[in-house]
Amino acid sequence: MASGTAETGTLDVAIIGAGLCGLRLATLLQPSGARIGVFEARARSGGRVLTVADGAIDLGPTWFWPRNQPRMTQLVAELGLPGVLQHDDGRALYHDRADQPPRTVAAADLHGGAQRIDGGMARLAAALAERLPAGTVRLQHRLRALARRDDHVELAIECEAETVAVRARQVVLALPPRLVDETLRFTPALPAPLCAAMRETPTWMASAAKAAMQYPAAFWRAAGHSGNAFIRHPQAVLCEIFDVCGPDGGPAALAGFFDLDPAQRRLLAPHLPRLLRGQFAQLFGPAAAAGTLHQYDWAEDPLTCAALDRDEPVTVHPLYGDARLTAPQWDGRLLLGGSETAARSGGYLEGALEAAARLAGQIIPPARFPNGASGARHVMTGMPA
Ligand SMILES: Cc1cc2nc3c(=O)[nH]c(=O)nc-3n(C[C@H](O)[C@H](O)[C@H](O)COP(=O)(O)OP(=O)(O)OC[C@H]3O[C@@H](n4cnc5c(N)ncnc54)[C@H](O)[C@@H]3O)c2cc1C
Repeated sequence: MASGTAETGTLDVAIIGAGLCGLRLATLLQPSGARIGVFEARARSGGRVLTVADGAIDLGPTWFWPRNQPRMTQLVAELGLPGVLQHDDGRALYHDRADQPPRTVAAADLHGGAQRIDGGMARLAAALAERLPAGTVRLQHRLRALARRDDHVELAIECEAETVAVRARQVVLALPPRLVDETLRFTPALPAPLCAAMRETPTWMASAAKAAMQYPAAFWRAAGHSGNAFIRHPQAVLCEIFDVCGPDGGPAALAGFFDLDPAQRRLLAPHLPRLLRGQFAQLFGPAAAAGTLHQYDWAEDPLTCAALDRDEPVTVHPLYGDARLTAPQWDGRLLLGGSETAARSGGYLEGALEAAARLAGQIIPPARFPNGASGARHVMTGMPA
């Protein structure tokens, strides 16, 4: 049962999840005057977007690709955020025998014109959140259950150890479909084919982990290296490393993706800092061991990684676009979002924007709902246990 109330009226749209999809959708709906609430389980917005070290290091998404991602390119420009072209100049390293030094290889334009955001990808989430009226995004509000009522959906939302009831005419679940299936309770239950589609849709990068090292200077650039390295030997901790310096070479940093799978990382967790420093040094020389280390394991984050994602890690980008995920449920009152529902760019930041645009078109104006007057006051009633 819900033990408190979070709203004094019925929201037009409750958006669950303040990742890029949820935030973008909120900004798209905001000019309509709809009464919107964005409920986010974490103490921060951004979801998989995670920037640390005062904007220097992205431990979630790093890049967008202006050559084939028009939505991201346009949004970054619209928000006035400075893009930084990925640094690929110089020699790349290829290391396929742990007992031999790495080989240098010539490789131009390795990242296909990818850009980062100066100051980190979190600036994207922050800039979107700033466009919303104060109080729209409610952090540390975790949705637990949804119940269909005649003219609204009732949400049980956990907040500060209490469960509060929220009513909304329409609800958008802007989070990975697998998390919806594994962590939310629906009354009535969702159709079996939709549940199957949610389970069959891997959350992109949910089983990944990233590490980064910050240094006083980009010594590898001075030695003619681009910072790009590919590691393919059995002792590899990271499989791919790249330069993530600021636009003028500072702050200086290298970042990389783990080669170890979630189970191996859990087993080796106490030793990872030493192993990571050793691998950076093996590639770029002794100076590379001495930086400030940052790492994040997404497989250990239950607000991103479902049990299925952790147990069956995917390394190849899946084909997204299952039409079962985008069909409105409960007579249009319940919609699924998140990047993994996007047909063209599913899994990417671009896909989160694609999903937001699709969802904005599926939102029904309040006047078209029966008894649709916005802002009506209701007494909050019990939620399904
Ligand atoms: C390591 C890594 C590297 C990546 N690299 C790139 C890259 O370089 N380029 C790129 O384009 N993409 C990349 N991605 C993918 C990109 O991050 C995602 O496509 C994008 O961030 C998804 O946004 P989203 O809003 O759909 O989902 P999410 O960011 O997952 O947002 C979902 C939100 O829902 C919240 N939530 C979950 N459950 C609940 C609940 N019950 N109640 C309330 N809130 C809840 C979560 O806390 C989260 O904030 C990377 C991802 C990772 C992890």
